[in-house]
Amino acid sequence: MMRFFILLFFSTILFGSEVKDFKWEDGMPYSVFLEKYNLPTKELLTDIDDDDKKLVEEIRAGVNCQMLRGTDNKIEQVLIPLNDELQIHIYQDEDTYSFEAIPIIYDLKTEAFSLKINANPSVDILNETGSIGIVSVFINAFKKSVNFTAIQKSDRLAMIYEQKYRLGRPFSMPTLNAAMVEINGERHFIYLNSDGVYYNEKGAQIESFLLVNPVANTRISSTFTLRRYHPILKKYRAHLGIDYAARTGTPIMAAGDGKIVFASTTNGYGNLIKIQHADGFLTLYAHQKSFRPGIKVGLKVSKNQVIGYVGSTGLSTGPHLHFGLYKDNQAIDPLKVVQVTIKKLSDKEKNEFLKLRKKYDDTILSHIQNNTKFVKLNETGNSCFINNKTQEKIAAS
Ligand SMILES: [Zn+2]
Repeated sequence: MMRFFILLFFSTILFGSEVKDFKWEDGMPYSVFLEKYNLPTKELLTDIDDDDKKLVEEIRAGVNCQMLRGTDNKIEQVLIPLNDELQIHIYQDEDTYSFEAIPIIYDLKTEAFSLKINANPSVDILNETGSIGIVSVFINAFKKSVNFTAIQKSDRLAMIYEQKYRLGRPFSMPTLNAAMVEINGERHFIYLNSDGVYYNEKGAQIESFLLVNPVANTRISSTFTLRRYHPILKKYRAHLGIDYAARTGTPIMAAGDGKIVFASTTNGYGNLIKIQHADGFLTLYAHQKSFRPGIKVGLKVSKNQVIGYVGSTGLSTGPHLHFGLYKDNQAIDPLKVVQVTIKKLSDKEKNEFLKLRKKYDDTILSHIQNNTKFVKLNETGNSCFINNKTQEKIAAS
């Protein structure tokens, strides 16, 4: 009921208010952000619960945020996206401010197009779509299995992908569902299977970045989620990694070859190491008891090399390793990438895959025959999305 009154309050004060986009500054701690904008540290940091304190450490540099100010220039609301699903919402609440994590409302659209190669796939896709995200998912999907330099003019490509839209504008990276590229007239395909892994037309896994388990012989005590509603706390939660329950002192190993880019103590994640890997992957190892001697920023480590020991430092209720995986700064589910060997589909899985493949092939071929162009959606202006629509959806869930 209280929330309902707040909703009414929001929808009326929007009139005459102003929304501004801003980018989160590189390396800016949340506490400094609060100070900078004169927002109360007690209500928005000190008094929030431990899970929320961990969320504020997940704010990414460069992320697009929104701030709503009233006619008196006073900050009324701030939205800080944490990932594709969840955002921090700071809002004026009577004479102070409140903190909550709320879902991001977006539209998901499946789009497809084909084109004839004129220069090369990157340039042509960018010219066609204007989207670096679409270029990058296409190039990344094929770069390990085909040789783009052998491409000829008049070779063709086609792709099907899902794009999120927020406020009528593309939001976050697209997900490639299926794609085809001709190399000197020969067609190469890739398909995203229902297991979240890419396969070629023969059902063989396209080799991807492979990680190993960072701790041996342990069980997973908590899985990855971008957004989950907690029915008891009546709050939205994200768990941007997986927890491995393990005894204090269990060695933690680098999940892949890379370079240490962070090795220090943080409030939420305790003793924390981050390793940068190839292709924009980064792994995170939290709550460590201690680091292996000699660990420092800049050190190169190899897969399976011990980097530290399991502990319970930071906001942790017992000894465990919180293991996070990020691709281009976006948290992704480590379980989809942690694998020791390339996956082989069983007969049943293969049949399912072939059905899916047929569906995608039909779509791709029809786009090629019809020479379907990319369709740019009209942007629906700069309307404010911190509106009662967002709030109503939360109230209703
Ligand atoms: Zn965790």
